[in-house]
Amino acid sequence: MKKLIIFLLLLSMCGGNSTSNLQPESESDQIIENSSIIEEDSNIPPIPTVSFDIVEIYEAKLGSELCSDATEIDTTSEECLRQYRDNLEFVFGYAEDLRVYMDDLNDFFANYPSTFSAEYSDLFVFVNEKFSAVPQDYGIVASKYQQRFGNLDVNITTTTIDTTNTTASTTIPTSDNYLDYRDVKIFRASTISDQHIEILTKYIQLTEQLLFTDQRVKRKNLYPIIVVQLDSDNYQSAIAVEEEYCQYLRDEYPATFNNTRCNPQNHNKKADGSIGLFTDDGRVSGSSISGIPSDRECCYLFISGSFDLSWDSSSQAYVTIHEMYHIFQLSNVIGFDYDLEQKITGKRIGNDNRDKPFWMEGYATYFSHLYYSRDINDFSHLENEMNRGLLSCYCGDNQPPIKERYLNGPELYNVTWDSDWAVGYQVGAWFIAYLSNIHGEQTMYDFWINSQSGILFPENFQNTFGKDYITYEKEFRNFIANSSEDELMSILPNK
Ligand SMILES: [Zn+2]
Repeated sequence: MKKLIIFLLLLSMCGGNSTSNLQPESESDQIIENSSIIEEDSNIPPIPTVSFDIVEIYEAKLGSELCSDATEIDTTSEECLRQYRDNLEFVFGYAEDLRVYMDDLNDFFANYPSTFSAEYSDLFVFVNEKFSAVPQDYGIVASKYQQRFGNLDVNITTTTIDTTNTTASTTIPTSDNYLDYRDVKIFRASTISDQHIEILTKYIQLTEQLLFTDQRVKRKNLYPIIVVQLDSDNYQSAIAVEEEYCQYLRDEYPATFNNTRCNPQNHNKKADGSIGLFTDDGRVSGSSISGIPSDRECCYLFISGSFDLSWDSSSQAYVTIHEMYHIFQLSNVIGFDYDLEQKITGKRIGNDNRDKPFWMEGYATYFSHLYYSRDINDFSHLENEMNRGLLSCYCGDNQPPIKERYLNGPELYNVTWDSDWAVGYQVGAWFIAYLSNIHGEQTMYDFWINSQSGILFPENFQNTFGKDYITYEKEFRNFIANSSEDELMSILPNK
């Protein structure tokens, strides 16, 4: 019986289909039958359970100190700090399942208050008072470990890759200047013009000066950046750059070569010679950040699409800022494991494991237009882009305008790339504009600096903006729904 209940619990976590939608003949039919039997057994259904005992896990890993001074994170030994970090990470790994379980319990006791006992009261106290500190403690300890012993990690992982780089990054004392770490390599498609490269380099530098100079930025995490400027109108040249780029990795970063698509084991070369790195089904790839420095990869891989400069040089400029903004965002969370990165940056919220664009893309979209407008000293660019991003359909087909799709759709933080990416990006940009107007640009920037501790998106949002993101999104939705076009536009800066 216990097994069955756990199964039902897992099923309800998957979201989507409710059991009543499931067709008979499938094995889920059995579940429906069985669950109705449970309800017939007594008037009160069994209390929800989970397959793990969080108090036991917590006590085993964090209940007693490994070393007498493990929690003295500034002074304890490397070994103790690492163990402490790993134990926190282990316990933290249960956070998501625990949250679902606690929600279920909450619902259950709201319906059947008579079943609430001291045992569950203790569990709620434990979760609120002890477990709730684990995510933040993990963030603090992980970044302290990185800060105190991070160089050792770098040494170990890069020695085989590039000895000159390793020497440079471990022997030179920490500098406050990002230029000391600057390492940007640009590949260009053979048919791309000098003018493209000039715009690209100008706006890379502009963004570096705007975002990389703050003393709190993790300079070592900003580079190397490999930029690949493609020619969107010349497929053959993209195939040639794939070859050139992979050859470069083979020579300079062999581990990255092996771990990525350059490695013949990781790609299916097409008859035309393309390997799907800067090419995509017979077309040239668009702009993206397609790689970040990690245990497996050396560098950020910034793929830059091209725009027709005769009428669209602005896109070449602001898309460059957009992608560089992502590098700034990511630099704050490099070193955390992949899942945690997603939860810190707001890409993963809730437990449906779907990526949400509104936060990271909202920032990159809004600030790319704002910074570009400042650079050309013409704020009609920002106004036009933001106006179009809300009031047009932002599409080629006849969909309703973005604003309507947002107001008739889910909360902004539940919009996924698949459900409506344009709403995520464009309404995301408006949400960032809305918060900027209330809190100022510095606070917006500080959110990312605060994320360095490993604090998760919901807590970081609450701390930075003084209100939880769910409440704030509701207020924003009201603002979008009930404001005239003039009122909406009035929140945008003009200097
Ligand atoms: Zn983006």
